[in-house]
Amino acid sequence: MKKATNTGLRDGAGCILPGSTIGVMGSGQLGRMMAIEAKKLGYRVKTYSPDADTPTGQVADAEFVGAYEDEAEVRAFFDRIDVLTFEFENVPSATVAWAEEVTPVRPSGAILHVCQHRLREKEFLQGNGFPCAPFRRVDTGEDLERALAELGRPAVLKTAAFGYDGKGQVKITEGVDAGAALAGFSGQTAVLEGWVPFVAEISVIVARGVGGECRVYPVFENVHANHILDVTICPARIPESSADAARALAVSIAERLGLVGIMAVEMFLMADGQVMVNELAPRPHNSGHLTFDASVTSQFEQQVRAACGLPLGSVELKVGGAAMVNLLGDEWSGGEPDWAAVFAMGDVKVHLYGKLEPRKGRKMGHLTALGGSAEEARVRVLEARRVLRRG
Ligand code: AMP
Repeated sequence: MKKATNTGLRDGAGCILPGSTIGVMGSGQLGRMMAIEAKKLGYRVKTYSPDADTPTGQVADAEFVGAYEDEAEVRAFFDRIDVLTFEFENVPSATVAWAEEVTPVRPSGAILHVCQHRLREKEFLQGNGFPCAPFRRVDTGEDLERALAELGRPAVLKTAAFGYDGKGQVKITEGVDAGAALAGFSGQTAVLEGWVPFVAEISVIVARGVGGECRVYPVFENVHANHILDVTICPARIPESSADAARALAVSIAERLGLVGIMAVEMFLMADGQVMVNELAPRPHNSGHLTFDASVTSQFEQQVRAACGLPLGSVELKVGGAAMVNLLGDEWSGGEPDWAAVFAMGDVKVHLYGKLEPRKGRKMGHLTALGGSAEEARVRVLEARRVLRRG
């Protein structure tokens, strides 16, 4: 099929050069920050999602509004871009296949297919010998009883599709009515995972280019509150051997998937120093936001480079350590946060995503602090959030 308006510039090696148009499916803060980096490099950016006046749309050259399943609308969008990437992995496979007919899609639809479904993702990990929590597929009450008998309690019941930030997830401890938890998923396929007694949660972001070269960021250490990421620090305060193992694991997964793009690998660190994969996200990740201010090449610029077939950038930290705190809608519960006081701190970077309505639990922005060490940065960024709360 011929494209209507493809004006993309390519060099002899097939790089999609500045001046070309990057299309991004999804329109949240991840796309916004990628668009900012893409614009810095001279690219045009177009976004597609069901919403208008979005975080990505506000900084993109064009915002297409339509359903992900609307063939005519998405095809019109694909005709107007030179490469497609994602800030949201739950785009239907059929839609991605339409894109693959007319434009490079990075990461590929095959990778999205694996990562948008917990069961497929677990089967991929287990099938390739990557360490992950034991799991069972659960469709019925009988499946659930058998799985609980095999994996024991506590365990975690998760929907196979469309879960994020702890949504579609129930911890099954002694005394919890597991059948009721499953009924709450209204017939969707679920996965029961054995409980992982982790000592820390970490993540690794890996970028892989069209030629197969990989760049892997220093390890991020993550603390969650109410299932939502709260604080990330980098480098993680973990043994060097664990950090090396975590980074090597992320690279192996990217290679096994044939990734072109960036991917976050969420992991659990065990008491014995071993690491275990929790989840894969083939896009920028909340734990990598600090790379915007702290790294030679941010995760967002790296996504642009990988998608366009450019050489990847350095993943080195520019400082000894960095820390990020999320700002959820909850920060607005007592009125407008004290922005002036945080700006007065001077060294703390404020990022806001242009969302108008500060709902509880909604990611509205984040703060980043840099320091001589991760701990110094952590203390500073938490102080900034206290100041923001007038506390
Ligand atoms: P997820 O949506 O799968 O990333 O899970 C959200 C959070 O729930 C994780 O970051 C962990 O804190 C916790 N969690 C998820 N699965 C398990 C597990 N199998 N064992 C212990 N904690 C878990």
